[in-house]
Amino acid sequence: MDIRDYQEWVRQFDQARGWDLCPGTDTLAHVLEELGELSRCVLALEGYRTVSPGERERIRENLGEELADVVTFLVKLAYTYNLDLAQYLAANQAKCRQRFGEGSGSYSCEEYLRYKKESADALLAQYQQRFGKKE
Ligand SMILES: [Mg+2]
Repeated sequence: MDIRDYQEWVRQFDQARGWDLCPGTDTLAHVLEELGELSRCVLALEGYRTVSPGERERIRENLGEELADVVTFLVKLAYTYNLDLAQYLAANQAKCRQRFGEGSGSYSCEEYLRYKKESADALLAQYQQRFGKKE
């Protein structure tokens, strides 16, 4: 699917229903609403709450739907302000390639993961100090 075509489809879909008249602030509120739904899926998939194997697949499917909801409202924001989102995404691609190109060394995923592990280890130690070590 072409992003520019999708943006035009959303604009026409909304125009046919009068939804293109919604101000950007309302659309932004919808983006945040959908981000909340997206967050609920990610939290479940990342172990924030217990999820059965069958439920896990349903949540993963729902995650895809919520991603699409977020993107759709972002696309709506783009047409609301007469921005060609495809153009900005292409510029962003170029910016990322320049900033994080292979071998650029400006960002170390290993360093980040080491930091995350150290933080998790420290939090686990604090938890165990407070509540005792569970086997
Ligand atoms: Mg949704």
